[in-house]
Amino acid sequence: MNSTPIIPPFSSFPLGSPTGRSDGAVSYLALAFGPKGLGAAEEFLACASSSTPTSLCTVPAADTRVLEAFRAALGRARVGLRILLAGPEADVYAARSVAFEAGAVESEVLLSITEAVSRRVYCPHCTATTVTDAVIGRELECSGCDRSLVIDHHFSRRTASYLGYMSDAEEVPQTVERVAA
Ligand SMILES: [Zn+2]
Repeated sequence: MNSTPIIPPFSSFPLGSPTGRSDGAVSYLALAFGPKGLGAAEEFLACASSSTPTSLCTVPAADTRVLEAFRAALGRARVGLRILLAGPEADVYAARSVAFEAGAVESEVLLSITEAVSRRVYCPHCTATTVTDAVIGRELECSGCDRSLVIDHHFSRRTASYLGYMSDAEEVPQTVERVAA
């Protein structure tokens, strides 16, 4: 299984400037998930230049409403914006996926992962995404269709989730046809 990297046809906030500065952040948009994410974001921003405008937003989790608002904020983004995402892995990756969809490139998105315990698992049967603490190789119940899914190593950056496959899919009923001798 290969995941094709999604390269947006254009970037809504291109890197660089005519002066050749490649990492000149003009402003920061920080999205922090939970108290740990906030701590990590504040730590990062404390090191950034104090003259750089920063908007820091703290939310509990990367739910649909938050991601929609984030998408809208990115739509108003200016050249030189750096996006900082801080918090648990599942939330950070979900937001990163939105940022890439909005045209951001890798160097414009800064990640600070505070906990990597929860992961998003994509169900190919019903397309639901389930957040779980289970590790790769373990089973979980799909939140969309209740199927038992095993968490595969395959990670999709586009959907920011691991692939789940049906745990009993391997157990194909054996129909051995014996030819009478
Ligand atoms: Zn499902």
